[in-house]
Amino acid sequence: MKSSVCTFLLSLLFLTGSALAQSNSANKVFQAGAAKSTITPKIGSSINGNMQDVTVRHVHDDIHARALVLDDGQTKLGFVVLDLCMVSRETLDKAKQRASEFTGIPVQNMMMSATHTHSAGTACGVFQSDPDPAYVDFIVERTADALIRAHENRAPAVISWGVGKEESEVFNRRWYMKPGTAMPNPFGGQDQVKMNPGVENPNMDKPAGPIDPEVPSIFLKTVDGKPIAVLANYSLHYVGGTGPGEISADYYGAFADRIGDLVLSENTLNDPPFVGIMSNGTSGDINNINWPGKKTEALPHYEKIRSVADKVASASYSAIKNAPQQNSIKLAAKQEEIRLGVRKPTAQDIKRAEGIVAKAAGPTMQSLEEIYARETLLLRDYPDQVDLILQVFKIGDLAITAIPAEVFVEIGLELKAKSPFKPTFNIELANGYNGYLPTAKHHKLGGYETWRARSSYLEETAADKILAVLLRLLNDHKSGK
Ligand SMILES: [Zn+2]
Repeated sequence: MKSSVCTFLLSLLFLTGSALAQSNSANKVFQAGAAKSTITPKIGSSINGNMQDVTVRHVHDDIHARALVLDDGQTKLGFVVLDLCMVSRETLDKAKQRASEFTGIPVQNMMMSATHTHSAGTACGVFQSDPDPAYVDFIVERTADALIRAHENRAPAVISWGVGKEESEVFNRRWYMKPGTAMPNPFGGQDQVKMNPGVENPNMDKPAGPIDPEVPSIFLKTVDGKPIAVLANYSLHYVGGTGPGEISADYYGAFADRIGDLVLSENTLNDPPFVGIMSNGTSGDINNINWPGKKTEALPHYEKIRSVADKVASASYSAIKNAPQQNSIKLAAKQEEIRLGVRKPTAQDIKRAEGIVAKAAGPTMQSLEEIYARETLLLRDYPDQVDLILQVFKIGDLAITAIPAEVFVEIGLELKAKSPFKPTFNIELANGYNGYLPTAKHHKLGGYETWRARSSYLEETAADKILAVLLRLLNDHKSGK
C-alpha cells in the first residue's frame, strides 16, 4: 500500500512535471505577426513638412501604419511605423493605450514612429500647417488597429537579421563654406554652416558631418517559411519628387513594396499579407542630394523614389536572404522619461519677433524672417521643460533604440559604436516629436536645423543627455538588469 501510494505520487509528480515542461515549451514558442492599416487623409486637407501649408489635391499612393508584433512566449513587443512627417506624443500615447486594451501588451513595450515622408497628412502642428482633430482621431484608431491586427496575426516564427549597406543615396547636407561666404540666419545673425548649399555652388568647402550607409534589417518568417515582415532602417531624411499636392508614402512605401517582391519571389503563399517596414534611422542632417556632384536633369515625379527604394531594398535583401535563423529568442523592453530644457526666446527675441510679425502682409508668413518670428511667438508659450520618452528594445543579440526627434547622424553612429549589442540601430521620430536633435557642436555652428522653432527647441546639451540614458539602458539590458 505504502509503496503503491509512493508510486502513485511519483507518477503524479512525473506527469505534472512533464505536463508543466510541455506547457512551458509551448508558451515559449517564438511568434511574430504583422499588419498594415491605411491612414490616408482626405482630399482638401493639410500636408505638412513645408514652411507653408500644402493642400491635398490627389492621392498617388495610400499611406499606412505598418505594425509588427514579436512574442517570445513571455514578453511581447509592438512596433508601428507611420507614413507621416511627424506625430505628437499625445496622439501616440492614445494609440498605445487603445492597442494595449485589446492586446494586453504594456504601453512601454510599444514603439510608434513616423517615417518623415513630406507628402502625408498633417498629424501635428509645425510651421504653418495645423492638424484637423478628426484626422488625428482617425490616426489614433488606425495606428492602434494595425498593432491589434498584427497581434492577431501572430504565428510561430523564425527571426533573422543582417546589416546591408547603400552608400550612394546618403549625403551630409550641412556644409562649411569658403571664408567670406554670407550665411545669414532669420534671427539677424550669421551661421558657420549652410544646409543644402546647392549643387555646383563654387563657395562649398567640405561637409560638416559624416553619413551612415547601413541598412539594418530584421526578417520574420513562419516556421514553414512564409514571409511575415521585414523591419528595416536607413538614415535618409526622405526622397521627395512627388506630384504637387499629392499624398505618397515616399520611398518608405516603395521600399515596402519592393522588399515584398524580393522575399515573396521565394514563396507564393501570402496570407496574412507580408508587411515591409522602413523606419528612419538618424537622418537629421542627411539627404540624398550629391552636393559636390554635377547638376542633373529633373526626373519625372516618383522616379527618384522608386530608384532609391530599389537600391535600399536590394541592400536589405542581400543582408537577410542567407542570415542565420533562430526560432527561440529573448525579448525585453526598457523605457525611461527624460526631462529636457526648452530654448525659450528672451524678452528681446520676443520684441524683435513682434515687430516683424506686425509688419508682415500676412496672413501667411512669406520670408524666413517672418516665419521664424511667428515661431518665436509660439515658443514663448511653450513650457520651460518637456518630458521625452526614450526606449531600448533587446531582440536577442540585437538592440533598437528610439528617440522622439530628427536625430543627427553623429548620434546614431555613436550609439552603434558604443552599444554592447551588435547590431544596434536607432529609430527616430519615435513616440512623439521634439524637433531636431543636433549635437552640442552643431548648435555652435548654427544652420537651419538649429534655428529656434517648434522644429528645433530642445536645450543644446539634449543630445549628450539622451545618449547617456540610452547607453546606460543598453548596458543594463546586456547585464540582464
Ligand atoms: Zn525634417
